[in-house]
Amino acid sequence: MRCDVVAVGTELLLGQIVDTNSSWLGEQLAAAGIDSCLQVKVGDNQARIVAALQSVLRDADAVIVCGGLGPTHDDITRESIAEVMGTTLEMDDVIADRIARMFASRNRKMSENNLRQAMVPRGASVIEQKRGTAPGLICPVGDKVIYAVPGVPYELHEMFERAILPDLLARSGEPRKIASRVLRTWGESESGLNERLQPIIDELDRAGNPTLAFLASGWEGIKVRLTARGADDASVRALLDSWAERVRAVVPEVVFGYDTDTMESVVLDMLRAQGLTIGVAESVTGGLVAGRLTATPGSSDVMRGGVVAYASDVKFDVLGVPRGPVISEDTARAMAVGVCKTVGSSVGLALTGVAGPAEQEGAKVGTLCIAVALPAGGESGATSQLVASSTTVMLPGDRKTMRELAVISALNYLRQLLLGS
Ligand code: ATP
Repeated sequence: MRCDVVAVGTELLLGQIVDTNSSWLGEQLAAAGIDSCLQVKVGDNQARIVAALQSVLRDADAVIVCGGLGPTHDDITRESIAEVMGTTLEMDDVIADRIARMFASRNRKMSENNLRQAMVPRGASVIEQKRGTAPGLICPVGDKVIYAVPGVPYELHEMFERAILPDLLARSGEPRKIASRVLRTWGESESGLNERLQPIIDELDRAGNPTLAFLASGWEGIKVRLTARGADDASVRALLDSWAERVRAVVPEVVFGYDTDTMESVVLDMLRAQGLTIGVAESVTGGLVAGRLTATPGSSDVMRGGVVAYASDVKFDVLGVPRGPVISEDTARAMAVGVCKTVGSSVGLALTGVAGPAEQEGAKVGTLCIAVALPAGGESGATSQLVASSTTVMLPGDRKTMRELAVISALNYLRQLLLGS
């Protein structure tokens, strides 16, 4: 089964909007094991849309055309599809009624133009619209098919998952159950992961099911996504379980969680399980670590508080850091110990470094010193002795990227120490 993509819109050609729909569809099709070999962008011109659809359908079994389903005169995807099907458009009363009711319920006057969205090529079936006004279309062309979806990304995503993917899988004769498992990683580059996982990737390429994809996701780390197909939920789950374990076994130290886990949710869970609370002292990240920890629901039983010790004086006066240079592991360790006392936590996490654009104290842009203070011997009492550990890493990117990567790097350092404790 091969399904190509045609994105419609003159603004795509003019560079006014970026065609993220095609990339998203490409990713979804690949994950589902459906070949997708061509992505085309075409302006709002009927002759050229028709030519693009005809040309794509010569080689592909199916095509998804996105955009140009709106109410205005330049939304001509419907007319173009009807021409390719060799048919005409007819008014679908159910859709017309739904659009009219939607306008009435919002107390808005409906212009006649809006009813253009109720025009359907004869022989096509409708993908009901749940999020906007334009329905999608499933249009048979001989033994092939054109799917039409609105250009608005969230409308397209919903229709693809609900109607198009199941229809494609049914047509391809493939098993209809499909599910994904995401391994969340941090600490290895995408190319490094690729290299270490190459034998597994080769094996998966030969088997064709599940598929594996890398998704670099900034300060969320690199996601390794397995997508499996099968006859029923149990067989899909079994496939995902066994391959996820095989992937994890190759790169165990970088896998911090699965699916909806985040670095902060994992760290908070580990602290909770060990009966620990945390305080955060941040210089270079200015509160981003505390922000991420507190964004996690239920963090209040573990997260005591934080100090944004940005000016050196605040490090000295509030956290009790000895006066001197502040871009150092010594300073980070003193901050980590200091914040435990300041906020009354059993664990302290501290970050100091240089986000740029200029060097500081001779330290290069990207330098990050991280320290963690943990209770000695694992006791969590407020009076127990603290043992501070520290490390220095060099992070890439501009100021924003460096600060974001600093957050996940620091939380990961804490995670590794908690694993050992
Ligand atoms: P609607 O029915 O809601 O009017 P439509 O099918 O007519 O949608 P367009 O008018 O082509 O779609 O695009 C609507 C909006 O969707 C655009 O302004 C743009 O923000 C977004 N969009 C359209 N095509 C793409 C694309 N290929 N990639 C990303 N965004 C897109």
